[in-house]
Amino acid sequence: MSIISGLRCKVCGQLYEESPQYICEECFGPLEMHYNYAEISSSIQKGQFNEAGGKSQRGAFPPASQWINQDLRVGGTPFVRAHGLGKFLGINKLYLKDEGASYPTLSFKDRVVASAMTKVTEFGFDTVACASTGNLANALAARAASRGIKCVIFVPQGSDYNKISHAVSSGAIIFEVQSNYDGANRLCSEVQDTLGWAVINGNLKPYYLEGVKPLAYEIMNELKDERPASIVAPMGGGGLLSMIWKGICEMKELNLLDGELPALIGAQASGSAPIVHAWQNNSDDIIPVKPDTKIASIAIGDPPDGIYAIEAMQQSGGKGFAIPDEEANKMVKLLAKVEGIATGGAGGVALCAASELIKADKAYNEGPVIVLLTDRGNSSDLSANTAGKTEDKAIKVEANISTFVEMWKQNYA
Ligand SMILES: [Zn+2]
Repeated sequence: MSIISGLRCKVCGQLYEESPQYICEECFGPLEMHYNYAEISSSIQKGQFNEAGGKSQRGAFPPASQWINQDLRVGGTPFVRAHGLGKFLGINKLYLKDEGASYPTLSFKDRVVASAMTKVTEFGFDTVACASTGNLANALAARAASRGIKCVIFVPQGSDYNKISHAVSSGAIIFEVQSNYDGANRLCSEVQDTLGWAVINGNLKPYYLEGVKPLAYEIMNELKDERPASIVAPMGGGGLLSMIWKGICEMKELNLLDGELPALIGAQASGSAPIVHAWQNNSDDIIPVKPDTKIASIAIGDPPDGIYAIEAMQQSGGKGFAIPDEEANKMVKLLAKVEGIATGGAGGVALCAASELIKADKAYNEGPVIVLLTDRGNSSDLSANTAGKTEDKAIKVEANISTFVEMWKQNYA
């Protein structure tokens, strides 16, 4: 019996064989990877997991390692105790999981891209695409280059060229869509259906999201039995927080964890906080917003996995926080000064949320607080900087599928 039972609808439970499909034919709910947990349970023991779990993504856990190629070289990022910053913020035990040290493009997106890319060749695609504001573009372009696969990136209007320089160097074709992220994302998913491309966070999304889980395994392995704990992560689309929760719940189901599960804390920029607002209203109705934040990596107004992020916060006894850009900016500077770590604005937002968490409820200070720093960066990422616009580096296109397809066929096909 295979340990993978296929793709399962998160809403109605319908099972499908593995394919480049991400929406249920019965109810249009999202699909996710599903496993035969009994089969896995009989083949692993806690000791084995602890031995492999903290070191790298590939050795972390059968549900990941069985189908993730063994040569990925992703994960295993530093988990560091931040004594100085903890003291500054009044957090007794502050730990940082620094995804800014991720290989090869310095953000946690290396993980999700690595896991989805294993399916690109298996399903026979020759072109891979995504909509991105920076990190995902770099991660995808780098891995596509190393596999010899054509890579197309859709960036929103006014994107910062400095943030996608790795993608440009890796030979990706960059289109600057005359719209915001949500518009660029829409065009990308229309292209997927029209031109039959692999879209890393579209038709390959179930495999993409699975790449987050080893991050949860690594953190839980580092924590050992230190509880109660809380894990703070920034939220853009909501997939990161929801998949950390899935990873933790699976470990629990397989009896790999003892004691209380950690509380998951979601953090958004105040100017783009639809998930936090819904959570505050105790509602699962997420009202899309027009993002107004300089932190591009989490400027998503219509978060596709927001509802599952809310579920993760609710089920784990967590909280949500909305943080102004200026506060995040100050925190990024403070982190660099006190700990010598340069993180992006999203990491600043998560650190601010950790600080707010302890102010709001001292009970969270009884255990370790783990903050996810999702990428490398610095406070200048948050300042108004027009020097790095995509001009001349990207081809400007309208957010219109028929004109795009015509242009593509004429110039690139
Ligand atoms: Zn369904």
